[in-house]
Amino acid sequence: MSDVVRKVIALSILIIGAGLLWAGRRSYDEAAAAKIEMDATIADAREHAASGDPRLKNAYSFERGGWVYIHLEGDPSSVGFQHGFLLAKEIADAFPAVSTGMMHSTKRDWAFFREVAREKLWPKLDTEYQQELQGIAEGLNARTGSSLDVYDIVALNSFEEVPDYYVPWIDKQQKRPNAPNLKSPGNCSAFVATGSWTKDGQIVIAHNNWTSYMNGERWRIIFDIQPTNGYRILMDGFPGVIASDDDFGINSDGLMVTETTITQFEGWDPNGKPEFMRARKALQYAGSIDDYTRIMLDGNNGGYANDWLLGDRKTGEIAQLELGLKAYKLWRTKDGVFAGSNWARDPKVLKADAPQFDSNNLASSPNARRIRWEELLNENRGRIDVPLAQQMLADHVDSFEKKTGANERTLCGHLENTAPGISIWGWGPYYPGGAVQGKAADSAMTKEMRFTARIGHPCGDNFQAKTFLAAHPEYAWQEPYLRDMNAGPWTVFRAGEASEAAK
Ligand SMILES: [Zn+2]
Repeated sequence: MSDVVRKVIALSILIIGAGLLWAGRRSYDEAAAAKIEMDATIADAREHAASGDPRLKNAYSFERGGWVYIHLEGDPSSVGFQHGFLLAKEIADAFPAVSTGMMHSTKRDWAFFREVAREKLWPKLDTEYQQELQGIAEGLNARTGSSLDVYDIVALNSFEEVPDYYVPWIDKQQKRPNAPNLKSPGNCSAFVATGSWTKDGQIVIAHNNWTSYMNGERWRIIFDIQPTNGYRILMDGFPGVIASDDDFGINSDGLMVTETTITQFEGWDPNGKPEFMRARKALQYAGSIDDYTRIMLDGNNGGYANDWLLGDRKTGEIAQLELGLKAYKLWRTKDGVFAGSNWARDPKVLKADAPQFDSNNLASSPNARRIRWEELLNENRGRIDVPLAQQMLADHVDSFEKKTGANERTLCGHLENTAPGISIWGWGPYYPGGAVQGKAADSAMTKEMRFTARIGHPCGDNFQAKTFLAAHPEYAWQEPYLRDMNAGPWTVFRAGEASEAAK
């Protein structure tokens, strides 16, 4: 038991004892009021005692532009503890929203996800990530007394791979009656460009995250991680999750990373390692496109299968790693562009891992956005820079209907106002989802460990939850968690920047 925990317990016993003596002489109502006051006092005492924990040394956070910036440093346990402690409020807010969504779509209870976390995922994690996840649970508990344990945190970390990849696989294996028709998600619009395509001949990378607004509104953390081992990381991310997960990040060896998911991917390897760990490990330890590919392939479990878009600012080379489970393909070039909008293109990957996907249906969201990327990138060849990338992420041209106006086919997606939904992802009519935030960087920014990010729709439009729910009672189950999603300004973040509070 740590000194801090001992101190909190001793202090709590004193306070409770004094409180009981005092409350015993008063009426029931007064005693109840006294208990509330005592609980608050104990919570304050706990937080105060925990804030002296040596593991918190050098960690800090501040808010800017609608984002929460968090600086973490040290060994895995300390990085985790800092994460859990500094983001306790955000984790406490995000956990019920995410877990409700996982249970709703899969028709499984939380005990199921905890068991998968404990029995299937935990044993496959490297020790350093087990320590970091344990640290998150401890930091969260130290700050708030939260009852969430490490398996709740592991289950939270798996929210992109267990519900839509493992569950359909296990439902099929077990021939589960009335199994929900789960579809792998379609997340994001992105590109990476280099050579004659960009203004300065170096790399430009950009990404907007497509997800439900319920989750997306909470995808507002900027992680600056300075680990004892591996490279320094600057990435966007989600409270309580060790990988960027949407994904966008850079590291101090010049690697630039993003992705879009493979639509209609099917498959899972129970012997593989969780995707969230491989993605985090690759950003932390890869100094080259080859390293990145090797780490992602090591224990590939098929979870959250993506087309990874990569850049190495040291060489100016970019790559696309189309990571299926049965097949994969790596393309690379020092003069070209790779775009992503949730479509696989290698014939072997398509056949083996996404057999249902129809590349020829140009009305579908992934294909319509593929065509729009081709138009936009070709029109702007030789001029692409970060300001232009920001505009592209906000693009509202529907290449299929040949008209302008945000919908399910535009690079900046807005589904809530359009009837069709995206059935190949399981997104129904008027689904409250779309592009929830954007990020962009170039080689020069990466050298300085900086990128720019905008919270909310990259176009700047806002989403109003109350108005939406009144019009669409079919989404009433989201009501406790669905909030307004207001866009912030494009905001630059840099690794190691001083706390705003200190300025
Ligand atoms: Zn938009």
